[in-house]
This record gives sequence, structure tokens and C-alpha cells, in this order.
Amino acid sequence: MKPNIKNIAVLTSGGDAPGMNACIRAVVRTGIYNGVNMFGVLQGYQGLINDNIIPMDARSVSNTIHMGGTILKTARCLEFKTEEGMEIAFKNLQARDIDGLVVIGGDGTFTGAQRFGKKFGVRVMGVPGTIDNDLYGSDFTLGYDTAINTVIEAIDKIRDTADSHDRLFFIEVMGRDSGCIALRSGIASGAEAVLLPEKETSLDELIAQLESGASTKKSSSIVIVSEGNKFGGAYDIAKKVKERFNHYDTKVTILGHLQRGGSPSSFDRILGSRLGFAAVNELLKGNTMHMVGLRGNSIETTSIEEALTRHFFKLESDLLEMTKVLSI
Ligand code: ADP
Repeated sequence: MKPNIKNIAVLTSGGDAPGMNACIRAVVRTGIYNGVNMFGVLQGYQGLINDNIIPMDARSVSNTIHMGGTILKTARCLEFKTEEGMEIAFKNLQARDIDGLVVIGGDGTFTGAQRFGKKFGVRVMGVPGTIDNDLYGSDFTLGYDTAINTVIEAIDKIRDTADSHDRLFFIEVMGRDSGCIALRSGIASGAEAVLLPEKETSLDELIAQLESGASTKKSSSIVIVSEGNKFGGAYDIAKKVKERFNHYDTKVTILGHLQRGGSPSSFDRILGSRLGFAAVNELLKGNTMHMVGLRGNSIETTSIEEALTRHFFKLESDLLEMTKVLSI
């Protein structure tokens, strides 16, 4: 039986990701279209505890679809991990009769949502919003496409200078546990090698790859290093290579937080809109404790439990093999 949902709140939590605003906009407008009162929670779970909950209407999200970051702000909130913190958060929702909650975030956010939903019976729907693309149940997470586009734009610029000076550049990109950003940006920028957390590459292997490039008279080389790779980071691997091959003119660039920012790509705006629209429709149909995600070209749901337990590395080994061939 369809529940009679009258009030829905939306929050963004954990790391921000481009496309979150498109998603918030879709959540708010889909709710209002269906006669639901909509609320925005500021600063993720911290805002639930601090009662930082504001009413939103269709105009609250005007002119936001192109904006990076999240208009609702985000935060990491340790207090929400405690029973007491959750109790306070629940009371604040109860005070407004909020019976549905859309959470946009990564696996930490979903872990919190799952505990909260189970304990208090709040209807929750998750939207995978993280640049890392590391959640089961969605081929792509919100923000990933923009992040890799930002990364390749930076690498293209570095390639210009690398090429002019015959240099070997090590470029560190985000991804402590997931090499998705490194792998796809490596392909799109024509990198000579990619180092990922999921797949150990030995120093010998890497050097053999670089030397084969040198023997074919490449004038520059770019190695993309995922921050979670086994060598420790781009500075560490550059040092090790330099120790063995002093003739390389090695340089290091850490791209850092610029990877999170920027106006979302059309892909992320559309994905955010589709996921936000679906999240509210699923809640209105009576679905709860699920995540909406993109599979193929359809929006499908996966239980949060499954998304978390099957949280896995999406390492596409075929793509990794391909980069080796294409970088000769
Ligand atoms: P992400 O959602 O991007 O993975 P985090 O791992 O920082 O980001 O998680 C975001 C927030 O989710 C945390 O700050 C915390 O408030 C909440 N959270 C994470 N793990 C739990 C947990 N085990 N129980 C309750 N809340 C949690």
C-alpha cells in the first residue's frame, strides 16, 4: 500500500560532488509537483542534529543546476554515529512530521542512513553522490564524470609543458580505495601508465613501461597515480624512479581538491536530475532503504544493504590492459 507521505527532507553528506545541486533541485521540484512539503537539511547529518532544517519551494532551487558544490552544504558528523545523536536527529524530523528522507552521499552517508532508517522507521532513499564512482548499484556515481573531465583538462595542460621539456610527470589524482578516476582519466589523457590501489604494479613493471616509451622516442611521459596506490603517493613513486633512473627529469603534480569543484558536466546534471526525480517517486511509491542508481540507461533501485555489502572495486581490468597497449 502506498504510504501517505506529506513531508520529505533532502540532505547532502560526506564529500561534495558536482551534480548534487541538480539532484537537490530535482528532489525538491518532484516533491512539490506531487503535493509534498519539501525541506532542506543544512550540513548533512549535523544539520539534522542541530535542527538546521529549512522549508524549500520550487524557487529555492532556481539557478542552481549549473553550480558545483552543494547549496545545502555538507559535513562530516561524528555525533550522528552515536545513539544519542540519532535520537536528537529523529526528534527534529518528528517535530516537522517529516516522513521521508533523501540522502545524497557516499558509502559513509548510506551506512548512517541505514542505521537511522532501521532504528526509527524513517523512510530513506539514497542517491550515490561521490566523485570516486565506488558504489555498487550505479554504473556511475554523481560527480564522477565532472571530476574526470576536470582531471583531463589539467593533464592536457601539464602535457604541454612535459612535452616541451622532455619530462616525466607523476600526477596524483583522488581515490584512496578506488582507482576509477585514475584509470579513466589516464585513458582520456593518453597517459603512459596508471597506478591504482586495486592493482599492484611493481617498480620494475613501471620502469619497463616507461623505458619502452623512451625507446620509441617519446618526448614526454605522464604517469597517473591514484592517491591510494601502494607506493604511498606521487612524490614517493617519483623518488623511487629517480633513485633507479637518474636520467629522468621527474616532476610531480598533486591535483588535490580542484577535482571536486567546478560546474557539473551535462552528464552529471542529467544524472543528478534523473536520480533526484526517481528518489522522490520511489519514496512516494512506498519504497524505502534503497538507493537509486544508473544501470545501463535505466534508473534502478538497489537495497542500501546490498549497495554497502557489495561495495566493491569497480576495477575494469580490460581498460587497464588497454591503456598498456595504447601507450606504446
Ligand atoms: P561519504 O558519504 O562520502 O562516504 P563519510 O564516510 O564521511 O562520507 O560519511 C558521511 C557521514 O555519514 C559521516 O560524517 C557520518 O555523519 C555518517 N556516517 C558514516 N558512518 C556512519 C555510521 N557507521 N553510523 C552513522 N553515521 C555514519
